[in-house]
Amino acid sequence: MMSRNYFSAFAAVLVAIAMAAMSTPAPAREAAGADLLSPVSVQAALDSAYVQFKDLKEGANADYIPALAKVDSNIFGIVLVTTDGRVYTKGDVTSEVSIQSISKVFTMAKVIEEQGPAAIESNMGVDATGQVFNSINAVEQYKGAEMNAMVNPGAITATSMVSGSSREEIWNKILDYYSDFAGRKLSVNQEVFKSESETNQRNQAIAMLMYAYGHIKADPLRATDIYTEQCSVNVNAKDLATMAGTLANGGTNPLTGKVVLQSSYVPNVLAVMATAGLYDDSGKWLYTTGLPGKSGVGGGIIAVSPGKFGIAVISPPLDAAGNSVKAQKAIAAVSNALGGNPYAVTPTSRGK
Ligand code: GLN
Repeated sequence: MMSRNYFSAFAAVLVAIAMAAMSTPAPAREAAGADLLSPVSVQAALDSAYVQFKDLKEGANADYIPALAKVDSNIFGIVLVTTDGRVYTKGDVTSEVSIQSISKVFTMAKVIEEQGPAAIESNMGVDATGQVFNSINAVEQYKGAEMNAMVNPGAITATSMVSGSSREEIWNKILDYYSDFAGRKLSVNQEVFKSESETNQRNQAIAMLMYAYGHIKADPLRATDIYTEQCSVNVNAKDLATMAGTLANGGTNPLTGKVVLQSSYVPNVLAVMATAGLYDDSGKWLYTTGLPGKSGVGGGIIAVSPGKFGIAVISPPLDAAGNSVKAQKAIAAVSNALGGNPYAVTPTSRGK
């Protein structure tokens, strides 16, 4: 009995390896970074991170937006999408949470697509604030300049810059753009939108200040309202990983083939994610992973290994900086196992 089980397990591994070898064309695998990204190793990395962190109890759901406190804290899903269009999943990949601040990446991308990278640099800046995401001190420090589109003042300013002749036109454009990144039609979590609209006075104040300093030129309260709606878009871990995978793949969605963002603009987006995507903990994150990333208080984090993969994890409990505890740990473990850090290079020569 024992030896039969042993034999069938062995046979299953052989079959898995053979299938893996057949399912991915060799040139694609080479481009993606050789065998570290083979189907067997990617799935093993996801499985092991899931097992390692699933019972971790640190952190707590965001509760300054009342609807977020009610989200199931046990949701835990990991998805990785390679630039050659393979999708790997582990855990809960169907539960949806609100995208929250991860939306900031894609609205910034929309503004860059419409107006070019200089518009972002000159309106809110591309420098880390080193402060929490809704810091008013950060606005005051340089009169709303020298910040970035990953913290609320810069993000609401970016939303105010999306062109359109009515709120509806601007909103539809934003939602369609996110949907193109995700590869499916996304929709708004109305309960979260309502809850956050009733409690977003601080963001309204931030938008007013950005207006007073001349960075927001449209109606600041309308910009805050659209920003609040964009934060309420529902996503699952696969949506987020596909969005990240699109950035990893130079702006073309690896599952649908649609060119969503011109490839020459992708480095601008990734640079701001790298310096400010996890707010005041962005340095720590980059030190551990080397990956441009972005978190949201809904519990999601995305990270991009350029040319290789996008990865997303959803797990609502957050640390003090507002970043998902499990998502940070799981993404770091998976990426480091798969050689995802773009700064980690094996020497190829020892000189002459
Ligand atoms: N909608 C949230 C806010 O503005 C987003 C914050 C976040 O995810 N860090 O407060």
